[in-house]
Formats: sequence, structure tokens, C-alpha cells
Amino acid sequence: MANRRFTRIHAYALTSALALVSLAACAPDRQAETKDAPLCEGCNVVLVSFDTVRADHLSVYGYERTTSPNIDAFAKKAVVFENAISQSAWTLPSHGSMMTGLYPERLGVAHYPAVRKLPTEATMLAEVFREAGYATGGFTGGGFVSSHWGFDRGFDVYTTDGRRFEHNLDEAVSWLELNKERPFFMFLHGYNAHRPYYSRRADREEMGLDPESPSSKKGFCSRENRERPSPEKLSDLLKYYDASIRHGDRQLGRFFRALRRLDLENNTVVMLTSDHGEEFFEHGNCDHVRFLYNEVIHVPFIVRVPGFTRRQIRRSDLIPASVTVPTTLLDIVGLDHTMPGASLVESLRGARHQFRAVYSHTSSAPGRLGSRGETAAIVTDSEKLISYLQEGSDEAYDLAEDPGETRVLAENHPAYDKRASLRAWLASLTRLSGPDSKFVGKQRGNRRDRMETYEEEAELPEKLKENLRSLGYLE
Ligand SMILES: [Zn+2]
Repeated sequence: MANRRFTRIHAYALTSALALVSLAACAPDRQAETKDAPLCEGCNVVLVSFDTVRADHLSVYGYERTTSPNIDAFAKKAVVFENAISQSAWTLPSHGSMMTGLYPERLGVAHYPAVRKLPTEATMLAEVFREAGYATGGFTGGGFVSSHWGFDRGFDVYTTDGRRFEHNLDEAVSWLELNKERPFFMFLHGYNAHRPYYSRRADREEMGLDPESPSSKKGFCSRENRERPSPEKLSDLLKYYDASIRHGDRQLGRFFRALRRLDLENNTVVMLTSDHGEEFFEHGNCDHVRFLYNEVIHVPFIVRVPGFTRRQIRRSDLIPASVTVPTTLLDIVGLDHTMPGASLVESLRGARHQFRAVYSHTSSAPGRLGSRGETAAIVTDSEKLISYLQEGSDEAYDLAEDPGETRVLAENHPAYDKRASLRAWLASLTRLSGPDSKFVGKQRGNRRDRMETYEEEAELPEKLKENLRSLGYLE
């Protein structure tokens, strides 16, 4: 860290003045003359991770139900990336990538369940902000983003007690009130859309459910029962998922209103994304973690930059969602840094086709809960190749013709030529090591045949176990 040069923000008065200058200078229609100027120099940054939200279930992405009116309103003055692909299928690796700009396998956390903390060798986004003089606060649902795995590194305050946004929102807003006179970086995370899909009466009513029905769908997709439900039950489950998104959206509405009330809207960059989506038997499975179909890796990705986004701008370019988070945020506010991961700033400004291919990766014990073991995918504008590495088998899809990935292309299709590129990418991922990268639980067998449950060997703090249990990860 010592060799790195950071742009320090010394006085908030200066920050506000710079923000006003950038308001005037960074309008999209004047981008040519300000190509290299930060989009919002010295501004505050909020990263919202709405866990388990697939892009196609938000109304801003064209979903048939109005699941997200508050996010839709937020997106009216934002860049909406329509083709953002997460780098993994579950919480820890995707968030690890969001916070470090590194791929999950580089961090050693692609495999479910988590057995490794984030290596200290990897610089965390919050560390860079803190070093630059920002106040840093994380308000999270814990579980696989808890401090246990190293996610608190660089944060002045990091909560993991809640589960859903509402459990942390008052504390997050109080923290904003306390820190609004200096630049800040906030990470706001909630498991609202995660099983068991909690909602309130009004949410269920809006999604067409009986408001008197239970507040959550306990028991769905349990370890014992992952059978495909009847069409009626499946339709009901989707409504429960949608109601949980609606409930989370209400909380985000409260948060956006607080930003307005505290007069922070005009100097705060807000990025909203998710770590992965959710399966509802599109490919024979429920939940997430194990597969890399679009219902799991196509995530929302919306960026609002004060002054720059005065209207909604939609970008259809293919982008990696998770690994681009840190560099993009730091570049938007003009902090000098050496974080890895590509920046989306040029995409924000309107450059097209920046990414020819996007990679995703996940791994879990083969045969367990339908898993096909270590799985990697390469996505391009029109095609996708998924490799099941232990099986040695591949599936390719024509995304332009078949976005639902329902017809596997014949073995002689040129899409299978992407195998070489996918293998080369995987081979390039040298795993980081470091004094603090010890395994949390003992490893058994080789890297591709690890245990599936914690109870057998790993030691986790009791509170974290409770939290993971509530999310359906532990029995
Ligand atoms: Zn997650």
C-alpha cells in the first residue's frame, strides 16, 4: 500500500465545489471535451447489493409485474446495464470479486461451501476509500458477507447482525447523518430476495397472492425436497419471490428518500447490483450456487452519477458485473488506485463493445443437490459455453436465438471453439496465498471433491451458523 498514490480529499467544502463543477462538466452531451475528467470527482459512493435478484424479475428490466417501483424511479436518472453477468453463482465469491476486482478462483473462494477467508494479499475496495480519507460503513445481512470471511476489512463500521435491508437501515441512515460532511463509502447489502422469500401483506397483495398467506415460503427447495412443483405451485413460488423483491424495494425506497432528505443526492454516486439470481426449475433445479445459466448470472447493474446521468441511459453491451465494481467506482470519483478489474467508465460514457467475453465460475460437490461439480462459463454477445470440468462435458447455446438456453447446440457448432479460451482463462487464475489465507475448515479429498456441509468438519462461530441456517445453508 505504501507505494500507492492516492488522491486525498481534505475538505468536504472542496468536494462539494468539485461536485458542482462536475455537474456542469460531465453531462453526456459534453463528453468529448471532458473525456478524461472523473465523472463525479470526490463524490460519496454507495454500493447497494440486493442479494439473489435476477435482472429479469425487476420491472426496470421489463418484468411483467411491478416488483421494483423504487428502483425504477432511481433508475430514471441512471445508466442501466442490460447485459451484466456476475462472476459466480453464490454470495461469497461474487461479493469477493466486487470488493477486490479479482476472480473468485484467484481468491480461492469459488467452491461452495466457503472454506477460506478472503486472502489479505487482496486489497479491499473499502481500504482504498479509507486510505483516501473517506468514511467507510458496511451495513449487511451477514452470512457469506460477514466479517468472518474478511469482508469487514477497510470499514470503520461493519454490521452483520441483520439479514434484510430493514434490519440495518436505521443504523445506516444514522451513519449517513453522522458522516455526511465528509466523503463516505457505504456498502448496503440485504438478503430480502433470498429464500425463504419474506414479504409483508401489501407486497403479497401487489404480486397477486392472498395477503393472508404466510409471510415466507419456508421449506421450498430444502435439502430433502428439490422436486419440481406443479405449475400452480411454481407460479405461487414465483409470486413469493417477487413479493420479497417488492419488500426489499420498499426498503431501498426508504433509503433513497433518506439520501434526498439529507441533501446527499447531488454528490453521491449510487451503484445497485446483485451477486447472483435464482433458479426456479428452468433447468431442473431451484436455489442458486451450482449452475451458471442466465437465471443465475444475469444480474441488475445500475449506476447513478450525479450530474452525468440526468436521464435514463440504457446500455446493451455485455459487461462483467462483479469484477468491474471497484475500479469503476474509484474511477468515477477520480481516486488514483491500482485495483485490478476493468473499469466501466468508458462504457458509462458511451463506448460500445468493450468486453468480448465475460467469465463466470462456481464449484460444489458433484452429485450433491444436483451439482455437476466445478463449472465455468464464457459468455459473448451472442453465444455461451458452459463447461462441467470434472465431467469433461460442455454445453453451448446461441443466446441470440435462444436466450432461455433451452437448446444445446450440436457438437460441431463453432461455439464450442470457446473451450480453449475458457480453459486458458481458468489456467491463468493463480490462487493468492498469504498468512491469513488459512482454511477455515479442514479440507478433505482433492480440491474438486470437498465436503458439502459444515457440520462435519469446519468450525464456524455459533452466531454465523445461526445466520447461515436462516438462509437455508445449514440444517
Ligand atoms: Zn447471494
